[in-house]
Amino acid sequence: MPNFNDFQFRKQPWYDASTIRDLIPTFIPMKTIVVYCFDPRASEIPKKVAEHFGEIYPGENIIDEHGSRVGHTATLFTVSNAGGRAVAALQSVSTMEFLFRMQNVVVVHHSFCGATAFTADGIIDAFHHDHGADISKSYDHDSLCIEDYEKSLKYDVELLRASPGVPKHFNLYGLFYNIDTGELTEVVRDIPARKPA
Ligand SMILES: [Zn+2]
Repeated sequence: MPNFNDFQFRKQPWYDASTIRDLIPTFIPMKTIVVYCFDPRASEIPKKVAEHFGEIYPGENIIDEHGSRVGHTATLFTVSNAGGRAVAALQSVSTMEFLFRMQNVVVVHHSFCGATAFTADGIIDAFHHDHGADISKSYDHDSLCIEDYEKSLKYDVELLRASPGVPKHFNLYGLFYNIDTGELTEVVRDIPARKPA
């Protein structure tokens, strides 16, 4: 069996902890994360968001002379979860800020999402009934379902804005996606005021 840890960045001879964060953004020009639902009917969302904001997605690998994948051209990364909720993306946003010094987070909720088929208390009660389990404290209550699209998008943008893991200069957006027409509509926009140069 190979030593899988030979495939770590930290194990490479060129690795330098003091410069790695300057180097990583030169591998991939990543600047935006799109958070969206993993419903397969909504799988076009990252591409639509890239078109909307003039970003590159899916992009392509950059290959060196040894055939190694040393970079990528994508500027947009994706986080996919049930409902496309921001709470489940926070760790990814903080990690990508640390590695790439990113700029934008785009949350997208879509039409006829499964998360609109129940209420938060409905799923909590069902777990009590079906599994004898209490999940009421396990997850953020208002992120469990979508009761109102404008409210869920506003909630997610505000949740990102309030998180210490999301730098204050980030631009935050909440968009609605119609899975039948492919139309993307900007519902919430939170752009911090820039200091005059
Ligand atoms: Zn969905």
